Amino acid sequence: MPGASGVNVEGSCEALCRTLVSQNGLQRETADISQSVLYTSLMGLLLVADNEKEQLTLGSGRIGLRNIGNTCFLNAVVQCLSHTCGLRDYCLLKSHRQEKFSKEEATLMEAFSEVLSGLWDANEGHTAVNPRQFYNNFKEAVPYFSGYSQQDAQEFLRFLLDKLHTEINRRPYVRRAGKDPEPKYARIRLSEEAVAMWKKHLERDDSRIADLFSGQLRSSLHCSVCSHYSNTFDVFCDLSLPIPKKSFAGEVTLKECLDLFSQEEKLDKENSPMCERCNRRTECTKRLSIQRFPQVIVIHLNRFTTSRWSISKSTVYVSFPLTNLDLGPYGPIDCGPVLYNLYAICNHAGTVNMGHYTACCSDGNGWCFYNDSSVTPVSENQLQTNQAYVLFYQRSNSSAAIRK
Ligand SMILES: [Zn+2]
Repeated sequence: MPGASGVNVEGSCEALCRTLVSQNGLQRETADISQSVLYTSLMGLLLVADNEKEQLTLGSGRIGLRNIGNTCFLNAVVQCLSHTCGLRDYCLLKSHRQEKFSKEEATLMEAFSEVLSGLWDANEGHTAVNPRQFYNNFKEAVPYFSGYSQQDAQEFLRFLLDKLHTEINRRPYVRRAGKDPEPKYARIRLSEEAVAMWKKHLERDDSRIADLFSGQLRSSLHCSVCSHYSNTFDVFCDLSLPIPKKSFAGEVTLKECLDLFSQEEKLDKENSPMCERCNRRTECTKRLSIQRFPQVIVIHLNRFTTSRWSISKSTVYVSFPLTNLDLGPYGPIDCGPVLYNLYAICNHAGTVNMGHYTACCSDGNGWCFYNDSSVTPVSENQLQTNQAYVLFYQRSNSSAAIRK
C-alpha cells in the first residue's frame, strides 16, 4: 500500500474512532473502560481490518501439513486455526509487527505465521508444508510438549493460543500480581460487575487472540443456608462440555451437552467456596452461563474421562448444527438469539493410546478433510461423526448491540 493512502486510512480511522468513543451509545456499553483504552483498541481493530482487506492475495488454503513424528494433533489444530479468518489474515499480513508493544521477539508468532503463509500461498505447488520450525519453537516455549508421545489436541490448542497471546499482547507491561483479592461487589448490579471484571481483563490481556477467542463465563452460587447469591466471572477461551451418559441409543446432541454444562450443580461443603454472608463454607448450588460471547467459540467435547486408574474415551455420537447454533439460551437473561456457524472440526479417531487427529475445515468454497499431508473435499453430510472432538464456530449475527 502506498504511503499516502496509508496516511489517509489512518486519518479516517482516527476520526471514526474519536467519533465512536465520544458517542454515548458506546459509552453505555463500556461505561468503565477509559476513553484512551477504548480508543487504542478501536484504532488497532480498524487499522488491521482495513489493511487486511487491501493487501491479501490468497491461495485455496487446501494444502496439507507434513507429519514429522506423531504430530497429527498439531496438524489438525493448525488447520482449524488456519481457517479462522480473523487470525489467518492477521498472521498473513504479519500485523503483529505493527501493533506489538512488547520488545521481546514474537518468535512463535513469526513461525506460526510462516506456516500459515505456506498453507495460503497463492502460487501453491500442492506440496505439504513442513511445520518443523514452528513445532521446535513451540516445544521451546512449552517444554511439557517435548518428546514424541501422542499429545492432546485440545491441550495443544490452549497452550498455543496462550503463548501466541503473550507474544502479541498489546499490554505486556501491566503487572500481573497473582490473583487479585476478591472484590466486594455486593451492592452493584450484576451487569456492572461483569463489565468491571471484563475491563480489568482487557487492561492486561488485549491481543488479536483475545479479540477473537475470549469470552466471559459467569458462575453463580446460591447458598443453601442463607440464600445469598454471588457471582464470579472468568475469562474463557474455549468451552469444555461434558457428554451426557446414555445407557441406550448412544447418540446425543450438542444442545444436551450444553444443557448439562449449564445445569445447576449441587456442591457439598468441602467443594464449595466461602459464602460471603455466612463467612464459611456451606452447601450451595452452582450454575454456569456465558456472560459475554466471543467472536469465535471453541467447543471441546470432553470425550476423555480420567479415572483413578486409567483414561477412557467416549465414542458417543454427538450431533451438532453446522449453521445457526443458538447460544442465547446459555447467555444473560433476555440476550436474544446469539448465532454461530461452524467452520472447522478437529476429529479424534481411535483409542486413548492409539489415536489419530484429523480436521475438517470450510474455506468458503466448501469443506475439506485434512489428514496430515492429504487434503480431500468432503460433503456436508460427512462432517458429523462420532470422532468430532473440538468444534470451531464463528459468530454470525452482529455483536454490535451486545445487550446485557
Ligand atoms: Zn450463606
